[in-house]
Amino acid sequence: MASAKQNHLIDPLMLEALPHAAGIYLFRGDGPLPLYIGKSTDIRSRVLSHLRDRSKRKMLKQARRIDYVETSGDIGAQLLEAQFIKQYNPFYNIRLRRIRKLYSIRMIKKPKGVVTDIIGGKDIVIGQTDNIYGIFRSQRAATEKLRDLASANHLCHGTIGLESISARGCFGLQVRSCHGVCIGEEDRQVHDQRLIKALENMKVHVWPYPHAVELIEQSGDWIQRHRIDQWRYLGTWCSKRQSFLPYDQQIFDLDVYKILVKPIIHGQARIEQLHIEKAATPLSASAY
Ligand SMILES: [Zn+2]
Repeated sequence: MASAKQNHLIDPLMLEALPHAAGIYLFRGDGPLPLYIGKSTDIRSRVLSHLRDRSKRKMLKQARRIDYVETSGDIGAQLLEAQFIKQYNPFYNIRLRRIRKLYSIRMIKKPKGVVTDIIGGKDIVIGQTDNIYGIFRSQRAATEKLRDLASANHLCHGTIGLESISARGCFGLQVRSCHGVCIGEEDRQVHDQRLIKALENMKVHVWPYPHAVELIEQSGDWIQRHRIDQWRYLGTWCSKRQSFLPYDQQIFDLDVYKILVKPIIHGQARIEQLHIEKAATPLSASAY
């Protein structure tokens, strides 16, 4: 609407110059730090939609200019966004907190059936520890999730290890949330199948390759190769710069894992495995 009152002071020419391409964009005000960082497969459309978004009103009032970094694909944009948000902590982004200590639900297959427990801290190496489900910030959060899943799926809290069972069975029998596996009224295998299914889509995947891989994204003849090892993002090689820009991620990062798990596990991305010699090559540093 031409008559609409302008809700920002960003130069229209700057908006005109934004590309219809994948990447990240940074709304900047008068200060040195960005106000807000986002990513899109179409930078220009997304930025223009923010200008019409009433929930962005406060941020837009302070916005003076927009910077952007193009990427050759969506995964590259997501990795860069996560990296920039952690680095600059923009006021109008939801804070991404680094999780120092992680907890997870572990499934243990025993001769009599499947049981669970909660593990955390040094007992988990994400990417290497198998049979773990969900990532939580506290032991309590993990236990609560397991409790909810058990109730929703009529699992026996006693049998899976959440509480002790008396001779008359678990507490859930009285309120009919347990189908009776603890007193032999339900087949253990049938019960365990429900448990396995309930946890299935929370699985924390082990790193499926022997070494690092490169996840390749291409736009026209522009190629970016994102190097990943044990779910850690190690940097990106770019055909435009003809160089590798390292990103030294030492510890597990839940945001990075979430970005990468689907493309890598479900084969939705172009992946090339690196041989150990290549992965061990010293990486040259360069800057944007
Ligand atoms: Zn029971």
